[in-house]
Amino acid sequence: MKIAAVRTHLLEHRLAVPFESASMRFDRRAHVLVEIVCDDGTTGWGECLGPARPNAAVVAAYTPWLIGADPLETEKIWARLYNALRDQGQRGLTLTALSGIDIALWDIKGKHFDVPVSTLLGGRFRETIRAYATGSFKRDGVDRIEDNAADVARYRSEGFHASKIKIGFGVDEDLAVVRAVRNAVGPDMRLMVDANHGYDVLEALEFGRKAAELDIDWFEEPVVPEQLGAYREVRAGQRIPVAGGETWHGRWGMREPVETRAVDILQPDLAGVGGFTEARRVADMAALHGVRVVPHVWGTAVHIAAALQFMAAMVPNPVRVNPIEPILEFDRTDNPFRQAVVKTPIDHDQGVVKIPSGPGLGIEIDRDALAEFRMRDD
Ligand SMILES: [Mg+2]
Repeated sequence: MKIAAVRTHLLEHRLAVPFESASMRFDRRAHVLVEIVCDDGTTGWGECLGPARPNAAVVAAYTPWLIGADPLETEKIWARLYNALRDQGQRGLTLTALSGIDIALWDIKGKHFDVPVSTLLGGRFRETIRAYATGSFKRDGVDRIEDNAADVARYRSEGFHASKIKIGFGVDEDLAVVRAVRNAVGPDMRLMVDANHGYDVLEALEFGRKAAELDIDWFEEPVVPEQLGAYREVRAGQRIPVAGGETWHGRWGMREPVETRAVDILQPDLAGVGGFTEARRVADMAALHGVRVVPHVWGTAVHIAAALQFMAAMVPNPVRVNPIEPILEFDRTDNPFRQAVVKTPIDHDQGVVKIPSGPGLGIEIDRDALAEFRMRDD
């Protein structure tokens, strides 16, 4: 079996109500899927985290090294592609594009052997996974405090046990939001906060110290990801566990945060860290250093399916009678093609998601949806 073609599919949806994280404004959702076709007709699908067109350009740059290669040789291909752009690309789009390619190759491998990727990774520790709701952005034209409290109360009524609130807009306003959410949902729901690296160290420390009484499970990306010393200051100077990792790529990008204990919880993204090939090395490294892993997810059903396959095979750390289970990040914002790209949408039931058990990623792509949501040229 040889790789015959590599294609990218640019998708977008323009939002009815734009929203913001601390670091980014969204007036549309755009994602890129990678399709790898083999000479025997086997097709694999992947997805790249981050900006769609630039990722597609880097996938195109990698393509000459892929054509004619054996898609089952995932380690060989990963090493060859990484080395091809290593001198100018140890982090960023080179790794996010490589991630989309690697996910598609593992999908092919699973289809070839007629098993889910999780079986190829060593076996499924779980068939279902609890999801946490990600929403609670700052939306245009509404009162953020009331809007976020209503959002999270709705997630609770839908059965979610946990939800993540976007902060990083200003310490006082952020505290008012988190207090309002806690009051709205009561003491039992698990809450996390995500500053999307919008704070500096002093703001992060102030927020963390004042928010500790609100029973927050983790404080995600408190400061910019390049400043590992600042991460360590935030971790040492307040009580909420610190999380991060969606912008750290490859095992080398993850090494220092893990070895120097910059975070309590590491959040590699399958579509950013380097696909399945690299994510398993990163998870092993985190386990070696006693750092908990909760993958980051922000994309279409292809991305969710990849995360689910990986999380199915995550080894509990420690192994015990009632192990600490990973939880799935489940985006609840307006995004109709998130699920439409697959024929059987991956949904939750009372906050629990069933891990697909079909071959590869366990999904089937709906090409009509790819056409419907194709990105326009403007
Ligand atoms: Mg985040």
